[in-house]
Amino acid sequence: MTYPMRPFELHRPADVAEAVALAGEYPGAQYLAGGTDLVVNLRRRIAEPDHVIALGAIEGLGEVTREGNALAIGARVTMAELAAHPEVMARLPMLAEAAGIVAGPTIRGMATLGGNLVLDTRCRYYNQSFFWRQANDFCLKKDGSVCPVAPRGSFCWAAFSADTPPVLLALDAVLELTGPKGGRKVPLRNFYGNDGRWSIGEADGGLLPGELILRVRIPLPQAPWHGVYEKVRVRGSIDYPLAGLAMMVRWKDETAREIAELRMALTALNPQPMMVPGTEVFSGRELDPDAVAELSRLAGRTGKPMRTTVSDPAYRRAMIATMVEKAAARLAPGLGPALLQQARWA
Ligand SMILES: Cc1cc2nc3c(=O)[nH]c(=O)nc-3n(C[C@H](O)[C@H](O)[C@H](O)COP(=O)(O)OP(=O)(O)OC[C@H]3O[C@@H](n4cnc5c(N)ncnc54)[C@H](O)[C@@H]3O)c2cc1C
Ligand code: SF4
Repeated sequence: MTYPMRPFELHRPADVAEAVALAGEYPGAQYLAGGTDLVVNLRRRIAEPDHVIALGAIEGLGEVTREGNALAIGARVTMAELAAHPEVMARLPMLAEAAGIVAGPTIRGMATLGGNLVLDTRCRYYNQSFFWRQANDFCLKKDGSVCPVAPRGSFCWAAFSADTPPVLLALDAVLELTGPKGGRKVPLRNFYGNDGRWSIGEADGGLLPGELILRVRIPLPQAPWHGVYEKVRVRGSIDYPLAGLAMMVRWKDETAREIAELRMALTALNPQPMMVPGTEVFSGRELDPDAVAELSRLAGRTGKPMRTTVSDPAYRRAMIATMVEKAAARLAPGLGPALLQQARWA
């Protein structure tokens, strides 16, 4: 049985001012960028706005520019452009890496950074057709009253599953926003909330009604920072992450693998992308197999996978340690063989 999507009026503003004025005029309107998530959600009647504001005709949001010691990336820059941009590749390779493994090539050609930052949270009971959801009495996040993942709770555990936000958290990015009530800058670390229903939107720093992301400003790390992104998914050619980890390290002494500072951030394991707290105690320590085991435990305490994907939460939990090991082995010269040896004798 098919259900048509709910009718909506499509607007095509020519500039940011017009877009924001439309958002102010029509509360509940949704912006449309690449449409790789929103169009699917409209079809499934997960999203049911009366007005959709397409950002495609607005100039000036699709550029990457250098601003002093920072890179400003427009919200309409696509994942494909980000992955292949020479300055992003040279100065922020971890961001290029994460963007380059979002979905598959055709989607990356349309999927934008703005849409990636505010991707709706995902759950196997929610990202389904209207028919499927209706047959299962819907769920707490939309149209229903019970959460089948945690039926006795009043919380939504849908997982925030975008790839670039953990990288941007680790890089200390700041969002430039504008909306019917004016413009402001919000550090990404204050942007998300931890309930799958309003991980974006009702958190302290989250998007206010009608707000539009204009740019993401990333301070360029000084030369000695190194970073990688690890992702676990079923099909490497297209799938969302079941778990994702960004790890950045600055060495005091690279040959001795002595850490000056280390940062980790996770995605797809919680209703929001999260920095892993507590990594500052590793400053001055060697990144050896014992340190990697402790980092895995730290990350494991932050990532809380629930039954929101078809993959077992126990598998996703186990993958946290695997991602930490793989990331550390990529970052630290000679660590891989030491980790393998430890695994062999464990
Ligand atoms: C098969 C498939 C696989 C996918 N795999 C991945 C994956 O591996 N990793 C991943 O991260 N994502 C994945 N996605 C999701 C999606 O493609 C990306 O997250 C993409 O970056 C979303 O951007 P978009 O421009 O298409 O957003 P849209 O669909 O246009 O919009 C998404 C949301 O963002 C809002 N929005 C868009 N731009 C702005 C803005 N400038 N300001 C405020 N709000 C805005 C919209 O209103 C909407 O709520 C996948 C999608 C599909 C269909
Ligand atoms: S976690 Fe629960 S409330 Fe949230 S989308 Fe999934 S089933 Fe619905």
